[in-house]
Amino acid sequence: MLLNRAVAKSVMVVEDEPEIRLVLRTFLEDEGYAVLEADTGERALSLALDEIPDVVLVDLRLPGIHGLDVVRSMRATSTVPIIVVTAQADSHDVVAGLEAGADDYVTKPFEPKELGARIRAQLRRIASETGEQRQDVVACGPIVIRPGTAEAFKDGEPLALSRTEFRVLQELIQEGGRVLSRDDLLRRVWGYGNAGDGRVVDNLIYRLRAKIEVDAAKPEHLVTVRGFGYRLKP
Ligand code: CA
Repeated sequence: MLLNRAVAKSVMVVEDEPEIRLVLRTFLEDEGYAVLEADTGERALSLALDEIPDVVLVDLRLPGIHGLDVVRSMRATSTVPIIVVTAQADSHDVVAGLEAGADDYVTKPFEPKELGARIRAQLRRIASETGEQRQDVVACGPIVIRPGTAEAFKDGEPLALSRTEFRVLQELIQEGGRVLSRDDLLRRVWGYGNAGDGRVVDNLIYRLRAKIEVDAAKPEHLVTVRGFGYRLKP
């Protein structure tokens, strides 16, 4: 299946057993999701910052950081839906997972159809909470985006943006020239509930400027408002 990675919902699979990861990847890609894989909790936490999954599936029995600690760390900074995967026999794990901040659970061995339904339920919940907007075209000067297809253009030329770059540009463009602080962007794009590390935003803006500005060192569109944040100028 040809997947538009920028527009497909993404599921991060945190699982140390390669065979199970493969089964999950195959199933989830068939369902139309972009799949991110992490074989340890450490890797999951760093990948979640770079790629911003829409749903996270966490096996609780991991080498290194325990799955419960992965759930707690993600929940401390993000509202991303988290589903824990537990051994069937272990109801203690289910309770601990939900108390750590998971939204739902599946038990091994799981039925793929059931897992699919659980993921869709989480995505529906998030979509209704955030009231997803579906404007056709939004423009700011020479920069135009199509939120429905996650395409972006400058002077009519397509821009090759990552999923996160697109989301930041979308927030700035939909703000209509008003300033967004780093915390605004962390909350809206990365889903941070509390204040997070603003450097994640600064690095992203740096990469985005390299793609949309003629001279990234002297930005004309994606400008810094000192002491406040960033805005997009026509
Ligand atoms: Ca495991």
